[in-house]
Amino acid sequence: MKPLSPQFRPYGWALSTAAIAARAGARTEDVLRFDGNTPPDPPPTASAETVAAALERVQSYRHGGFPELVEAIAGYCDVDGANVVLGAGADDLLMLCARAYAGPGDRVAIADEPSYPLYRVAAWVTGADVGDEEPALTFVCRPHNPTGAMVELPSARPLVVDEAYFEYGGETAVPLLDDGVIVVRTFSKAFGLASARVGYALADEETAGELNERQQPAPISTFSAALALAGLEAGPPDVSATIAERERLRGELRRLGLEPLPSWTNFVLVPHPRAGELYESLLDRGLVVRPSPGAIRITVHRPEANDRLLAALAELL
Ligand code: PMP
Repeated sequence: MKPLSPQFRPYGWALSTAAIAARAGARTEDVLRFDGNTPPDPPPTASAETVAAALERVQSYRHGGFPELVEAIAGYCDVDGANVVLGAGADDLLMLCARAYAGPGDRVAIADEPSYPLYRVAAWVTGADVGDEEPALTFVCRPHNPTGAMVELPSARPLVVDEAYFEYGGETAVPLLDDGVIVVRTFSKAFGLASARVGYALADEETAGELNERQQPAPISTFSAALALAGLEAGPPDVSATIAERERLRGELRRLGLEPLPSWTNFVLVPHPRAGELYESLLDRGLVVRPSPGAIRITVHRPEANDRLLAALAELL
C-alpha cells in the first residue's frame, strides 16, 4: 500500500453496547449511550412501509440516481438541485472533499482543534498532512463538535463547513456557496437516520458538478434514499423538545457544581479535572459518555435517561 503521513492514526469507534454491558455486568438493554449525538428514538417516518417499494425492486440498480431526493434536499436548503451532492453520511462527503482537494505533499487545515476526528483521517488517507501552512483545504465544524459552540467561520478557502448539527443551531454557511465554501450536512442527527447513512454536500454548481463526477456512482441505497425522502416530506425536524431538555440537563449539571458549556447542538461538553476517571466510572455503571480532553461530552437523551446519568454523577462527584 501507499505510505501515509507518519501522523496517521485510524478513526477509533467507541466500545460496543455488548462490550459495555459485559464490563458493567448489566443487560445490553440497560446500557444507556450518551456518546453518539443521535436522538434516542427513530422518526415516525422510519417504517417498513417507507422502504417497502425499495424492497420490491431490490434486485435492480436505481438508474439515474435519486433526483427526487436531490430536489427535496434542494428545497429544504433553499438551493438548486445542481448544488447538491449525495453521500453515505456526512463522513462520505468529508472524505470526497478531502480527496478532491488534497493529496501527497499537501496540507489540510482543521479549525478549532480538537474537533471531529474524521477530518484528520480524511486528510491523511489522501496522503496529505494536517497543518495550517497554505492548506489545500480547510475543515471547520459549525456548530462545533465537541464544544457545541457556534464558532467563527475561518476566512480560508476552499472551506468545508461541517453542519452536521445545523438543525439545532440554525446558522448556516449556505449563503457563502459562491465564495469557495462547501457545506456538508447529514440525516444522522436531527432527522434520526444515522444507520441509514445519508448525507449531502452543498456547493456552487461547478464544484458540486465536479464532486458528483468524483463520487462513486451509487453512494446510497434505495432504502436509505426512501427514508431520507420520507423524513424531508414530514417537514423540517422539530428539535424544540431536545433543546428544552438540553437546557434542563445543563441546569441540573450546574446544580451538581459542574460547568457545562453553552451548546448549539444536541450535546453538552462538561469540563472536569477528573474527566477520564468520571468516564470510566460511568462506564462501570453502563452509562456511556464521550471522553474528550479534560471533559466529558454528553448527548441529550430522554429525560429519564438523563436523570439516571445525573444521579450517577451526583454519586461520583
Ligand atoms: N460530522 C460531525 C461533526 C459529526 O459529529 C458526525 C457524527 N459523528 C458526522 C459528521 C458524521 O455523520 P454521518 O453519520 O452523516 O456520517
